[in-house]
Amino acid sequence: MSDRTLLLAGNWKMNHDHLEAISSVQKLAWALEDAKLDETKCDVVVIPPFTDIRSVQTLIQGDKLWLTYGAQDVSQHEPGAHTGEIAASFLARLGCTYVVVGHSERRANNHETNDIVAAKVKAALAQEITPILCIGESLEQRQEKTHVDFTLTQLEESLADLDSASLEGLVIAYEPVWAIGTGETATAEDAAEMAAAIRARLAERYSDSLAASTRILYGGSVKTDNVAQVLASDDVDGALVGGASLNGPDFAALCKAAV
Ligand code: PGA
Repeated sequence: MSDRTLLLAGNWKMNHDHLEAISSVQKLAWALEDAKLDETKCDVVVIPPFTDIRSVQTLIQGDKLWLTYGAQDVSQHEPGAHTGEIAASFLARLGCTYVVVGHSERRANNHETNDIVAAKVKAALAQEITPILCIGESLEQRQEKTHVDFTLTQLEESLADLDSASLEGLVIAYEPVWAIGTGETATAEDAAEMAAAIRARLAERYSDSLAASTRILYGGSVKTDNVAQVLASDDVDGALVGGASLNGPDFAALCKAAV
């Protein structure tokens, strides 16, 4: 067993308006309490759309819930003339602990390159927000057996120009694109292989201590009935969960099954 705290993060994507968000977080909190989940054993995070964050913050802080929350993206720019962008400093003011950076849906649909992702990682770190950096290969790359090289290149390029000290606390989510929202899950061996390769590359490129402290999550069709299998390896420290995080009680059941 590693001494890294398990992290279970629910990426709602573009689901739930702010009223639905309040209801979902309330139900999640009640269900976690009923499940008697040991708060010292895992961090449970909700990652709602931007427009929900203020409501989620008010609820979590007002009711002193032990959940934390984050955002699904961040601008690489400082505040200014960037229509539609959200600055890291705004997320910090809203108490966001985490921000997802480089999700494959943004890489594919919004043309986010590794350079842009690296700038976003930097912007988040400058505001002391923990990036959850998403990396992972396509089905074609896996079939061609180039998945490890591809994912490690994505890792290095998405962290370009950052040193070991500034990356302390970083979270990495290995999300094979072919497993996201498809019902296909990587096997425990696939997840373990990539998590170990990522950790080894962090040791090689940065330091042993960064490699030992970085939490590496798996994401892609994680559900209550497969989460234990996904987390079987010591190198996998949690899950980034999409569809199965939308319903509060279901996500609580998944968290319970993971601990
Ligand atoms: P999924 O999404 O659990 O619905 O596959 C995971 C993700 O995209 O983070």
